[in-house]
Amino acid sequence: MDASIPGIHHITAIAGPAPESLNFYTTVLGLRCVKTTVNFDDPTTYHLYFGDATGRPGTILTLFPWAQAVPGRAGAGMATAVAFAVPSGSLPAWQDRLEAAAVETHLAERFGAPVLQLTAPDGLPLELVATDLALSADAWAGADLDRDLAIRGFHGTTLPALDRPHTEALFTDVFGWTRTHATDDRIRLAAPGRPLGGTVDLQTDASHAAGRMGQGTVHHVAFRARDADEQRAWQAALRDRGLSVTDVKDRQYFQSIYFRDPAWTSGVLFEIATDGPGFTADESADALGTALQLPPWLEARRSELEAALPTLER
Ligand code: ZN
Repeated sequence: MDASIPGIHHITAIAGPAPESLNFYTTVLGLRCVKTTVNFDDPTTYHLYFGDATGRPGTILTLFPWAQAVPGRAGAGMATAVAFAVPSGSLPAWQDRLEAAAVETHLAERFGAPVLQLTAPDGLPLELVATDLALSADAWAGADLDRDLAIRGFHGTTLPALDRPHTEALFTDVFGWTRTHATDDRIRLAAPGRPLGGTVDLQTDASHAAGRMGQGTVHHVAFRARDADEQRAWQAALRDRGLSVTDVKDRQYFQSIYFRDPAWTSGVLFEIATDGPGFTADESADALGTALQLPPWLEARRSELEAALPTLER
């Protein structure tokens, strides 16, 4: 098809205890918790969504806080880092802010741009990439964060390339992305127009060791479809490519399809999610994330689930 995938929609990771994650992502990183709901497949655990003021596609980090899970280890089939875009020139201030919060940082350089690397309390590798992406009026500056520093959304993610030509071709031949940079150990692919979340780095030196799903690992990476028609077209295009793609699933705030690439069990779990209906589907923009939202089929179990879930202080 002629259209291209306009970027990452959301990234979902397995986290440690919910109260600790809520505090880190809102108070330290200054993101907004835009939805407090449960994991629809395991409703006695939370599913927390963080993003900009309204949780636009391209800004959404979602967490499954599994307090009982063992620490994970990134490896084959898992994204190895989540990168957020911050304004050019803001990294020294971020470094000060993170160090004041007892978060260790490491300043690196990639393709000529500075990257501040850090680790979430549960072990998830995070990066802040200084870019000249257009500043968004919608940026959320939670806690005491200066709006000039605020995270704008995703810069991208890093994927170990088990079969580099195959995965690169998925992005270039199917998604309509282009290769913009390459070194011996890393290839950068970008969506047309440099949108938020429009970058994926393929790590070509990955050891391909098996990972272990657990706290601090990425569960899946979701890309955007602007609407249901586009999503159906992607589903058909991926099936034409021989990939096994799920039927459309209702995720309340978007509709989703899932597939692995390469199609082996060790391929990365990808999702394609629709931009709508978004997080104001069940609560007002002002109130986003402040109260537990349940899908209609779980409302009857509200009191039981509320008793099972840890209390979140806001
Ligand atoms: Zn997802």
